[in-house]
Amino acid sequence: MAGQGWAFLGGKQVRIEDAKVNIMTHALHYGTSAFEGIRGNWNQEQGKTFIFRLREHYERLLRGSKILKIELPYSADDLCKITVDLLDRCGYRQDVYIRPLAFKSAERVANLKLHELDSDFALMILPFGSYIDNDRAIRCQSSSWRRPEDSMMPTGVKLTGLYTTSILAKTEAIMAGFDEAILLTNDGHVSEGSGENLFIVQNGRISTPGETDNCLLGITRDSVITLCRKELGIEVIERRIHRSELYLADEVFLTGTAAHVTSVGELDNRRIGTGAIGKLTGQIQEIYARVVTGRNPKYLHWCTGVTPAGG
Ligand code: PMP
Repeated sequence: MAGQGWAFLGGKQVRIEDAKVNIMTHALHYGTSAFEGIRGNWNQEQGKTFIFRLREHYERLLRGSKILKIELPYSADDLCKITVDLLDRCGYRQDVYIRPLAFKSAERVANLKLHELDSDFALMILPFGSYIDNDRAIRCQSSSWRRPEDSMMPTGVKLTGLYTTSILAKTEAIMAGFDEAILLTNDGHVSEGSGENLFIVQNGRISTPGETDNCLLGITRDSVITLCRKELGIEVIERRIHRSELYLADEVFLTGTAAHVTSVGELDNRRIGTGAIGKLTGQIQEIYARVVTGRNPKYLHWCTGVTPAGG
């Protein structure tokens, strides 16, 4: 039966209301899971959803799973197929958010030994619009929370436990009247947003913090670095960035699956550049929007097109 309320759990497609876990589930207590956020972008003219960089998301999920000793009976290719099949069954004709979760499913609470715990894979697909309003430049706050160091918890992959910090930072920023939080490293350099990587533009040069500043190795970040090089002829520099450089930059923007490319117009009540979406940021937004909706043939290898069969 086709329909939107389907998930994948325990090795098969199940109705969303049957996709349940026991309260003893290890991941629920200890954050022992890796997840992904993937977008499927609906292209009305072509009647297709384009899933953006599906394989790369699963490669990252498997890297996170390896660290947590989550053993799944699936390869990255298997996971891509499971996703396409589920999207097909759901039959959405709109933008979707695809949420895979590789988790310690063992129903054992007082056990901290990863090698003794069984694992499972869950997948859900939800309709999804914009995450942050990126038709305008947003207002950010330097968070009082610091991005954890990789030596405290692996930061280059999406482990659920790490999101406690992101959630504290985002909540603090929103409750203080801002749109997003910027997290610094423990020694005070720029790391990233609560759910986005960060770039600055100064005198036509574009820079972004490197892996050693504990940011997530974002797939949008990687895509933007490639698009800057190939479409704008600008080589993005990965380097350590001081907080004060953000105040003085011509442009600052954030990148992420949910946030796409979002301009930052203000940080800590200081205007960045003109305070509006900057010239390069605007160009990158346009290029990126065409690529992720399957409208640039040069980058179709980044897109998995799915024509919905369900309804
Ligand atoms: N940093 C954090 C903390 C995130 O949660 C995300 C969203 N996945 C990103 C950066 C951007 O990563 P990606 O471009 O792969 O979505």
